[in-house]
Amino acid sequence: MDNGLLVVISGPSGAGKGTICARLKEEFSELKVSVSATTRKPREGEVEGISYYFLKEEDFIKKINDDEFLEYAKVYGNYYGTPKQEVFRQLEEGNDIILEIDIQGALQVKKNYPRGVFIFILPPSLYELNKRIEGRGTDSKEVIMKRMQCAYDELNYAFEYDYVVVNDQVETAVQQIKHIIHAEKSRAIRKKAIINKVREV
Ligand code: 5GP
Repeated sequence: MDNGLLVVISGPSGAGKGTICARLKEEFSELKVSVSATTRKPREGEVEGISYYFLKEEDFIKKINDDEFLEYAKVYGNYYGTPKQEVFRQLEEGNDIILEIDIQGALQVKKNYPRGVFIFILPPSLYELNKRIEGRGTDSKEVIMKRMQCAYDELNYAFEYDYVVVNDQVETAVQQIKHIIHAEKSRAIRKKAIINKVREV
């Protein structure tokens, strides 16, 4: 059996990664979504082990030292990390898995697992991004300014990715990612098992 596909969805905060990933999960029922660990407090409605594994900072740091993360990063004052063992287990079982992570984390995964597929979600404009972040109503003016500056700088990293998808309309972005996943899964390098099976007869 060939390994599953590791898909990394990343991009500036507010670009719509979360919404896109939720829609992708609906479209591909077999697609696994990696559950990250974080030290941030749960928001209303978030569920332990489904939204995140919510950890105390000391426990998170212990996991860093025990090399339990495929990547980790500090994002706006909190740690976030991808549990390595679960991701590799899914890939080895032939399951495709998606990570929705920030740019620092995505670049680490690219270094540690270059066979992944790296997709950068771009907002249609910084003006639109600002509107979306303001619209969420969760951040102060100061934090919004910080996020916007960060987003501006982060756009430079788009060139490190395999694909850029503009999230103007969520459905269009989701369809584009679906096509990317289908194309990537058809690469000869990922079809060794089927090629060998055909050859057997
Ligand atoms: P939030 O706190 O809004 O759920 O997420 C804040 C940011 O952290 C988002 O940009 C999200 O993509 C990112 N993030 C979530 N999980 C991970 C992770 O495991 N690793 C990294 N590097 N970033 C993550």
